Amino acid sequence: MATDGTNLISLLEALLAPHRPGDELFPGVRWLSSSSEAGLRLALDVRGSVLHVELAPVDAVQRFAARSAHFAVSYRTGSGSAGRPLSDAEGMALCRALVPLLQRHEAEVLRTLRERAAAARSETEGQARIRHIEGGPLLSPAQWRTQRYYTLSHYVGCLIGCRFCYAQGPVGLVRHLEGSPEVRWGSYVDARRDAPARLAEEFATLPPGPVKFSPIVSDPYQAIERKLELTRACLQVFADHGAGFPPLLLTRSKLIARDVDLLAAIPDAYAGVSLTTVDDAVRQHFEPRAATVPERLQTLATLRAAGVHAFAIVQPQWPGPLDALADAIAANATSANLGVLESIEDAGPLLDAPGMVQARDRSWQAERKAALRQALLDRGVEVWDGELPPALCTSPGA
Ligand code: SF4
Repeated sequence: MATDGTNLISLLEALLAPHRPGDELFPGVRWLSSSSEAGLRLALDVRGSVLHVELAPVDAVQRFAARSAHFAVSYRTGSGSAGRPLSDAEGMALCRALVPLLQRHEAEVLRTLRERAAAARSETEGQARIRHIEGGPLLSPAQWRTQRYYTLSHYVGCLIGCRFCYAQGPVGLVRHLEGSPEVRWGSYVDARRDAPARLAEEFATLPPGPVKFSPIVSDPYQAIERKLELTRACLQVFADHGAGFPPLLLTRSKLIARDVDLLAAIPDAYAGVSLTTVDDAVRQHFEPRAATVPERLQTLATLRAAGVHAFAIVQPQWPGPLDALADAIAANATSANLGVLESIEDAGPLLDAPGMVQARDRSWQAERKAALRQALLDRGVEVWDGELPPALCTSPGA
């Protein structure tokens, strides 16, 4: 069973094997894509309409449309769905129809997950638990609308530990499935020690395409990278064997500047630094274990000066002077990608603090994003949407 506990997408695909994204699961129902950004989700094309199906451990949710022995299956239609709206009866029927497919492999997939978790070597670094994982596929195909790419999750879990981080839900879900003890987000990380060797093997066999490092499940430059150098070793493989696989990295750490030599040597490497505000007191409030605002701006400037495509990502939107933020991005980055607060997670008390409460409001997030977008466009900054910069959307295989 080709499941890999560190890779949420491969878990979904192992559950539904031998089906793959693109396959017709039932007459008129095609599996479009998998995602792990807000839990384990499948997108299904139902005769031109899109239905999102969500899987969760059966003992972790109260309401669902159908269930197998281990998974609760629910569905979402509504915003973002294309085609005619699907009825509740159709959603329920599709969830029930998925149950026999899940039942074929769920026991085996979960047994493999748990065996791998039990066999993993663990160590502690100060307060942090590091688990060393090996085996299973590394690059996982992903799709956002028409943008196709691979994800590379050599770290899962993040020691920077932002309390609003929406990775903690899906990562915690997999830990729950594998029977791992519940521990605080920000106190653990799984590291794929075999990632560089595996990457070289997979480059030799997979069709080319852009590769996103650790999307949502981790930060490739959290503190443990200083010791393990897994991100650096993977970048070396990109430099040596990765023609046609442009990498895209995103971080809240200044450690990425250590690898500027390698990034500059890889054609079409994109390196992003998260810049959610220029007010460092606000940054300290929400992201206390991440790099300071001056450090992030210096990091962007270093990357850009070396000829790397250096982009800023502003997600979520935090309070702070908007024009100063747009000026800072225009001065230090070549493009920007903007997003909003996806979920509050553990950050409720932070958002209740004086001066911060506006950031809790969805419409404030949307309006701030729109205003920042305009401010950046006014300054000549390219602003892109989705998962990939436009130049990577035309890469081979994308
Ligand atoms: S740095 Fe990124 S991945 Fe890590 S906790 Fe913060 S938001 Fe999550």
